[in-house]
Amino acid sequence: MLSARKAVQALPTYHPPLASRTGLRMDFNENTLGCSSRVAEKLHEISRDALACYPERGTVEAQVAAFLGRNADEALLTNGVDEGIHLLCETYLEPADEVLIVVPTFAMYEIYARMTGARVISVPSGKDFAFPENAVMAAITERTRLIAIANPNNPTGTVVASDFLLRLAKAAPQAALLVDEAYFDFYGETLMPQIGEITNLFVARTFSKAYGLAGLRAGVLAGESSQMKMVRRVSSPYNVNAAALACLPEALADTEYLVRYVAEAIASRGRLERFFKKNDLAYWPSRANFVLARFGELRVPFVEAMRQRGILVRDRNGDYGCEGCVRITAGTATQTDFLLNSMQEVFRELGVGELR
Ligand code: PMP
Repeated sequence: MLSARKAVQALPTYHPPLASRTGLRMDFNENTLGCSSRVAEKLHEISRDALACYPERGTVEAQVAAFLGRNADEALLTNGVDEGIHLLCETYLEPADEVLIVVPTFAMYEIYARMTGARVISVPSGKDFAFPENAVMAAITERTRLIAIANPNNPTGTVVASDFLLRLAKAAPQAALLVDEAYFDFYGETLMPQIGEITNLFVARTFSKAYGLAGLRAGVLAGESSQMKMVRRVSSPYNVNAAALACLPEALADTEYLVRYVAEAIASRGRLERFFKKNDLAYWPSRANFVLARFGELRVPFVEAMRQRGILVRDRNGDYGCEGCVRITAGTATQTDFLLNSMQEVFRELGVGELR
């Protein structure tokens, strides 16, 4: 009888809770406004002929690389950062190799790593999700072949110092260091300029968050050119579809849209943080487009009461160190008015401040 590889059999099925997602989407850290109208127009203009052709990635890939200040052979367009993670795992991991992650973090590092049969070593973050620099350094072995770090991190919004990441890359030359900068636009610090200089460093970016193109599926993985040559061998030649390729140059060109949206989301993030502080709820200062807060035993009724008001928020209770926590996306100013008013009502209903 046909059976899947052992590593695949041992994998849990990952189900992002996407079913019946109607309401204000404060649950997936997406752009909550919708993409730039210039991008939407471009999408409408795509010809029937263009859709009949296999997509040719090269030209747009070179444009995106140039936008990032990299050469074309240092960047690969991917089907979201998810695919970039998958490709790194396929390129570098042998069964029984070790992958270092710091928990809590983005779920896909572990999932793609385990698919290869590699062993995932989860280093717990410190108090208040402080990045455990010494423990990560101490966890490196000669079998460490991938270290995956989201900066800023999801679901916490916390960050790691760039100089530590550079030291880490040098301390583990036998390992690929993936710095996942999915939330770069809300943070501003990057290791993109160090690509090439440090040959085991990879930086991933996405068009899913600030650019509002999660549905199109487009990201980019950058790394030193001879390493990227290997990663390219693993990727499908048509991994990024024609609609995404047509839209990306327009998305990059509409800086006015991006700057405005990012500024609004950052302002909303500050309002959320101040709201939690005022209501005496534990939260973690975030550098991404969301805030994680601890609701304790009120978590389930809070998520449900928000859903009844048409607002989706994400229960993160199952993540390491996140007992009782909910993650809420920071969107536009108007959405934040509605969100904060609704939260205030729900807090009153649930007696937040009285029960704790
Ligand atoms: N990395 C991190 C840290 C994320 O939070 C997410 C999305 N939740 C992704 C990658 C996935 O991005 P993409 O849509 O580009 O696959």
